[in-house]
Amino acid sequence: MDTNIRAKTQGILETAVWNIEQAAKRLDLDSEVLAMIAEPKEVIEIWLDPRLPDGKRAHIKAFISRHNDTLGPAKGGIRMTDSVSRDEIVGLSMEMTWKSALVGVPFGGGKAGIRCDPASLAPVAKEAVIRSFTNGVRRHIGPEVYVPAPDMGTNEQDMGHVRDCVSYATGTAITRGCFVTGKPVILGGIVGRREATGKGVVYAIEAACERLGMNFSHQRVAIQGFGNVGGVAAVELARRHAKIVAVADITGGTCNPDGLDIPTLANHVRTADGVRGFPGGKAISNEQLLQTDCDILIPAATGSVITGENAGKIQAKLIAEGANAPTTPKADEILNSRGIFVIPDILCNAGGVFVSYLEYTQETQREQTPIEEVERRLAGRLKETFSRVHHLASAKNEPMRHAAMDIAVARVVEGIIARGTLP
Ligand code: GLU
Repeated sequence: MDTNIRAKTQGILETAVWNIEQAAKRLDLDSEVLAMIAEPKEVIEIWLDPRLPDGKRAHIKAFISRHNDTLGPAKGGIRMTDSVSRDEIVGLSMEMTWKSALVGVPFGGGKAGIRCDPASLAPVAKEAVIRSFTNGVRRHIGPEVYVPAPDMGTNEQDMGHVRDCVSYATGTAITRGCFVTGKPVILGGIVGRREATGKGVVYAIEAACERLGMNFSHQRVAIQGFGNVGGVAAVELARRHAKIVAVADITGGTCNPDGLDIPTLANHVRTADGVRGFPGGKAISNEQLLQTDCDILIPAATGSVITGENAGKIQAKLIAEGANAPTTPKADEILNSRGIFVIPDILCNAGGVFVSYLEYTQETQREQTPIEEVERRLAGRLKETFSRVHHLASAKNEPMRHAAMDIAVARVVEGIIARGTLP
């Protein structure tokens, strides 16, 4: 197991707090308003004790953080890892508030965590844990409260169990409105949701290359993560003739300066359960991947991997944050001073939550959305949001992250003011 990629999540809350504090200074936010958005509105901690198929009772900690619901119900995925913490979930829920606001969907920010290693569970055991979670937090999930989705360690099958758990409890075939997104298409999920985050990353990179005068098809790309985000981005980039020179996941990495064959690598990952041991490249660690000789680096695995220690050694000219909070504040300063162009997470990986919104409205209206429409709207919204952020960043001569945060925070504040104050 490559330990560098594992559980680098403890700094996510610090990064989220730093981001909002910096934005508050730039926007000269009123202290009363800042107090409302600097901390989550509600955090639930709960112990789950499901009976697993082996007959034993498990004892599992879970969390839900609803950071802010000014613009709509809290939205954000369920993270399932053996190290997930309250702080990590709170930090991620804060980032979801800004991501939803930035990409212009009527959602607030939320996140859930289940502390359990999904790889240690057989499918039936994982289903029992997911159902136990859904039952345990049932009153905190709903189309007007918190709408979960997949995140690290969970997938569309798990969302199918969440959906079924809710309708089973009411004894109905369907639910009243959308309780969860990222479901299997057969259960009302939207086509293209699984690929949405990875495709969004590619649209954001395309837009950045256009602005920076980089010829897309000549770029050498290194990708950390080969799951729903990194794996999809790799396939899409290869289709557009970019050269993927290095890929790593939790099992290890592989590098080939002449370009990795992505379909063969995808096959290897399926059969060998990870990147490690891929015969088409030289073995590298996750740390080596980050510092590899490339033009574009896509951290698409976990948080806090680009740090004060390695930011000075990164060779890429462009960093596209597919993961949530992959860059620590110290690293961000170093990257900015080195003139490296960073597409911030709340913009770069917002394709997932945008298509979740399409799924939410599809289910609410009992409609069906064709893939062409999903893709057209996703590409349009990502490029439009990129332009708005880039325009502000250029006008103010500031990093993209600052511009993205300023737009997002200003929207939430506008919502707070429009709602008014309770007596
Ligand atoms: N987990 C994803 C994220 O971090 C998706 C959230 C959603 O669709 O609600 O953006």
